[in-house]
Amino acid sequence: MRKAIICGGSIGGLFAAAALRKSGWQVDVFERTEIELSGRGAGIVTHDVLIDALESIDITTDDLGVFVKDRTAYDKSGNELMRLPFPQIVTSWDRIHSLLRASHPNENHHLGRSAIGFRQEQNKAVAILNDKTEVEAELVIGADGFSSNIRAQMLPDIKPLSSGYVVWRALANESDLSEEVRSDVFKTFGFFVPSGSQIIGYPIAGFDNDLREGHRRYNFVWYIGVEQEELKDMLTDDNGKYYPVSIPPPLVREDVMKRFTETAHQILPANFAEILERSEMPFFTPIYDHHSPLMGKGNVGLVGDAACVARPHVGMGVTKAACDALCLARSLDSYSNIPDALEAYSEERVAASARAHYRARDLGATIFVDPEGGNEDGRNNPNLHEIVSTTATIVI
Ligand SMILES: Cc1cc2nc3c(=O)[nH]c(=O)nc-3n(C[C@H](O)[C@H](O)[C@H](O)COP(=O)(O)OP(=O)(O)OC[C@H]3O[C@@H](n4cnc5c(N)ncnc54)[C@H](O)[C@@H]3O)c2cc1C
Repeated sequence: MRKAIICGGSIGGLFAAAALRKSGWQVDVFERTEIELSGRGAGIVTHDVLIDALESIDITTDDLGVFVKDRTAYDKSGNELMRLPFPQIVTSWDRIHSLLRASHPNENHHLGRSAIGFRQEQNKAVAILNDKTEVEAELVIGADGFSSNIRAQMLPDIKPLSSGYVVWRALANESDLSEEVRSDVFKTFGFFVPSGSQIIGYPIAGFDNDLREGHRRYNFVWYIGVEQEELKDMLTDDNGKYYPVSIPPPLVREDVMKRFTETAHQILPANFAEILERSEMPFFTPIYDHHSPLMGKGNVGLVGDAACVARPHVGMGVTKAACDALCLARSLDSYSNIPDALEAYSEERVAASARAHYRARDLGATIFVDPEGGNEDGRNNPNLHEIVSTTATIVI
């Protein structure tokens, strides 16, 4: 049995593990976090390709998430500006992660084991872990996310780039929302797009994948531009410690939260403002992206965010990782030696990732389009139709 080692046990790592296992590999996953990742994350938009990918690794997609039938754009007064039929299933990160995690045997899942690098040897690779142990296999995969150590060694010049904006996210319980919001915004994939900001939201399952009416949650997403100095301040905790990439939500200072709430009251329509007000702790993440020109060499490959992060406007993070995983397994099945398989995999997925990456940048740029006459009320956005019809759609 061929052996693979996967560094990173989130969506990309677990998808790759399932696809390789189905092709007859013995797969061990080494995840940096010491406790299971379950129960975390917020909303994820699904695409048919993702559903097909899950089914191809024998994961049932019944009750995958909440079905929304259309997309609606609102103005600042809460009036409907545009409604497009757009059937889609929206779900939660936790739902997808727990389905994948349940498919992976516990004895091959190693928590609290972080990869610090790798070594290419004759016909095999060695993953080097933070406790200085070394594990070797025919294949080592870096699925260790956007600040991947495996990528840093393979492609030292590729560094995530800051976009100049952050995303604030929050989840509100359906039962905490007013009847007015529940009967309107809650049922749709909603948009509000004034200049300098972009708000989207959609319903997802409640705790423990509860899809019953009254038990679901609303996933609120707000992109907003932030100057470099302000971002630095937002990423600094009460003790003056600066977190260059992202700050753990409980450490965000009170004055940062207060500023956020005040800005929200100035910008948001009443429906989205209510959702935010009744949410559990909102949290922010600076938006970064990167794209690697190589996703595999010798006996070492990259999947998911380790290889490429497309900004979240295309809603492709999970789907892209799934497609990487399936392509990887397919290439390894098709070639008699691993370096050739990884070369073919890299060629196909670098091109596909680049398409998502650049499309997401274009969509992100629409946030900052400021038409003559202003667009504070979201009625005058020249890209409204493009934003509503192409956000979180598949990029082939
Ligand atoms: C807890 C969590 C919650 C998330 N929630 C959302 C969400 O709500 N919405 C959304 O759009 N995206 C979310 N994401 C990101 C999303 O999973 C990815 O954008 C996408 O699915 C690609 O996944 P990935 O596995 O390639 O990368 P990631 O999901 O970033 O996973 C990388 C994994 O590698 C682990 N890791 C990092 N460094 C090392 C190392 N050196 N050695 C071993 N392991 C390492 C990390 O702990 C993590 O589990 C979340 C990610 C995580 C980890």
